[in-house]
Amino acid sequence: MEKINNQPPKTIKIIAGPCSVESREQVFKTAQFLSESSKIDLFRCGIWKPRSSPNSFEGIGEKALPWLKEIETRYKIPVCIEIATPQHLELAVKVGIKHFWIGARTSVNPFSVQELATASQGLDISMMIKNPVSPDLQLWSGNFERFTKAGIQRLAAVYRGFSTANLLPYRNDPMWKFLIEFKRIHKEIPVYCDPSHIAGKREYIYEIAQRALFLDVDGLMIEVHANPDAALSDHEQQLSVPEFSKLMNELIIPSKLVSQDLTMKKYRTYLDIIDNELFQLLAKRLEVVKDIAQYKKEHHIPILQIDRWSEVYNNLLQLGKTLNIEPSVAETFLSFLHETSIQQQEKIIGFS
Ligand code: PEP
Ligand code: MN
Repeated sequence: MEKINNQPPKTIKIIAGPCSVESREQVFKTAQFLSESSKIDLFRCGIWKPRSSPNSFEGIGEKALPWLKEIETRYKIPVCIEIATPQHLELAVKVGIKHFWIGARTSVNPFSVQELATASQGLDISMMIKNPVSPDLQLWSGNFERFTKAGIQRLAAVYRGFSTANLLPYRNDPMWKFLIEFKRIHKEIPVYCDPSHIAGKREYIYEIAQRALFLDVDGLMIEVHANPDAALSDHEQQLSVPEFSKLMNELIIPSKLVSQDLTMKKYRTYLDIIDNELFQLLAKRLEVVKDIAQYKKEHHIPILQIDRWSEVYNNLLQLGKTLNIEPSVAETFLSFLHETSIQQQEKIIGFS
């Protein structure tokens, strides 16, 4: 994408660092390279790793904590780590670590999250909460409520996509509509995107990060390793420091929308008028559906009339083509219309 920008870009938070701390040398090297190459706001690293197999590298543990404190002082970058138990939190706070995140595998468990929230009470810390591995927005929202109740004010969400059986081409399914919905419900919570865990492979990180930025995320969490090919976890998705610098140079940081932007105002007025008309039409359509349902009920006519539906579907798909509506958009819209119609009729006829 070409960089053309006439507005000041919005400030976004950059969190970068290795998936895991593997040795003192590796973590210092990565932190030093990063401090020399790009400006980052937080250095990330895992010392307790929630891995699928107990035979894989599960993190170096608490012995890395003093190194992280040293990194903070030497390179003047605050460090954040993943915690999963109150004991992790206690050990880290003891050495003076103040920034944490809860991983996707812990975020699914309200008991664990509550234990962490209770243990955080009264501490001067910031907490990022990754979305749970499955797309359950209420569960994710509940996690923020737990920390808000515990008095933790510096909270942020990290969007890392969802586990799915459909593995290609990314490791996690981004399901961007959940990011949009989370932002709509929680306007007050900053949302960062973790393109590394969505991608699973470094070649996809740029496109995911850029897409997230245009969905107005407030920051990015990216895995960077001094020598990614030798990494003990997530080696395919970690960027080398030069790759990370290149990414930072190439990404377009969208500008903040200024409220006096008249062109945007004009477009929005058009859209508001069209949306309004669409809703009026939808209401009219639903009224006719109700009448049909009543008629079918009285005359024992089946709700589903597959021949009629196929005809409508094909005709409208054809019309869509002539109107330049992409077939996938037309298909989604038509499925919505038909499913809603069936549901409404079932209600009136007396199911559900
Ligand atoms: C990580 O950040 O290294 C990690 C384990 O991520 P997630 O919880 O998103 O899988
Ligand atoms: Mn990782």
